[in-house]
Amino acid sequence: MELYKENQLKVYNSLTKKKEDFKSITEGYVGMYVCGPTVYSNAHLGNVRTFMFFDVVYRYLLHLGYKVRYVRNITDAGHLENDADEGEDKIAVKARLEQIEPMEVVQRYTVDFHDVLKNYNFLPPSIEPTATGHIVEQIEMIKEIIEKGFAYEVNGSVYFDVHEYNKKENYGILSGRKVEDLLNNTRTLDGQSDKKNPQDFALWKKADEKHIMRWPSPWSDGFPGWHLECSVMSTKYLGENFDIHGGGMDLKFPHHECEIAQSQTCSGVTPVNYWMHTNMLLLNSQRMSKSTGNFILPNEILSGENDILPKAFSASVVRFFNMQANYRSILDFSGDALEASEKGHAKLMEAVTFLEKIEAKNESTFNVEAWKKDCYAAMNDDFNTPILISHLFEAVKLINQIKESNASLTADDLEEFKNTLNAFVFDVLGLMNENSQDSSEKINGVVELLIKLRKEARENKDWALSDQIRDELIALGIQLKDGKDGTTFSLN
Ligand SMILES: [Zn+2]
Repeated sequence: MELYKENQLKVYNSLTKKKEDFKSITEGYVGMYVCGPTVYSNAHLGNVRTFMFFDVVYRYLLHLGYKVRYVRNITDAGHLENDADEGEDKIAVKARLEQIEPMEVVQRYTVDFHDVLKNYNFLPPSIEPTATGHIVEQIEMIKEIIEKGFAYEVNGSVYFDVHEYNKKENYGILSGRKVEDLLNNTRTLDGQSDKKNPQDFALWKKADEKHIMRWPSPWSDGFPGWHLECSVMSTKYLGENFDIHGGGMDLKFPHHECEIAQSQTCSGVTPVNYWMHTNMLLLNSQRMSKSTGNFILPNEILSGENDILPKAFSASVVRFFNMQANYRSILDFSGDALEASEKGHAKLMEAVTFLEKIEAKNESTFNVEAWKKDCYAAMNDDFNTPILISHLFEAVKLINQIKESNASLTADDLEEFKNTLNAFVFDVLGLMNENSQDSSEKINGVVELLIKLRKEARENKDWALSDQIRDELIALGIQLKDGKDGTTFSLN
């Protein structure tokens, strides 16, 4: 039986602001859409947090036995410099500044994005569609919205009529904003805008003469509005009504609100059953900002080439650190916090490595079934990874007790314990045992050699050398323990 049948997943739905039982539209299948990056600069650490969380959602759904179609787009056109539909296309600006083709910008930063995801052990999505690959479909959707009376053309640009939509539907259903309040709070656009109302948003923008990214359309040579691509691509690949839509909290308004308005107008049905949003990431308790220098790129964390952190950290440590916080809480990224995570991560990996050497005994001193239930319960509770990790550390404690002959597991329990622990650590959280196999075997060999040399030194009553070996190993974080069956060691 598939695991999802015995695990009732609960998901916090940003739309209803409640934790709800997750029920997929088609049993056994899940459709999930996550707004991807705008590829006009290097992958942003805040976005990586969001994608990393949805990578774990994807991994857990797969682990539960769902067939998941995971769509994460690449925005390679149409994302303007600000949300008021003013300014230039972000990619076109970058291309002009750097005197290169827009598609060179897109190519460069798409490669960078994929490089980061590969380094951090992300599973690739099922489909990664691009905005420029769906211009035809976007034009078709605009035609449909105009036909239904919810969009109007002015001077070659097309705008979505928020007020007309709001007469029948609820613009603000996701973000909780009210059109009336928006009216009062939005500055007037100095008569520069073609919009009937400042809340209206662009579906199509006419390109001015200098604008290098442009496509022909019934209204003008121009480019699509940013919100449109997600409605088009989610509908095309997941249907008019699909299960999960995710993204960073900052996308709730206006981006996701506009997506709902567009999709609902065309299909007449609610596009998404569960909206999920990740909270923001701070760096040293402050917003990340290039201009203040409080900024770090995901790959710079791995290389150590930065002025923010005291040293390099491995991708698995960064993943572990991310998962120690709930996705709906603010995450504060700092050197101290990462160093603490690095220690916890090393303990976990040491235990997981030792697990392979454990031998079964006649009786179990640990309730594997109850522990396993706790692990699933944590993930079933809106993907509560910090609670899951606390249960993984109960497993670490058990492994250490077994190591010291203070606990034991029967063959069946050991098998189940191993499978469950490995599944959560590697398949679900996507951690990597970086010091396993090769390097850890080498370290073990070297320490065993030093233990042997120390034994010989002691037999020769060379206490100075014996103490030196012990002390210098301690300084390296390797603790020797003398027992009646010889000397063992542990890594701190
Ligand atoms: Zn989107």
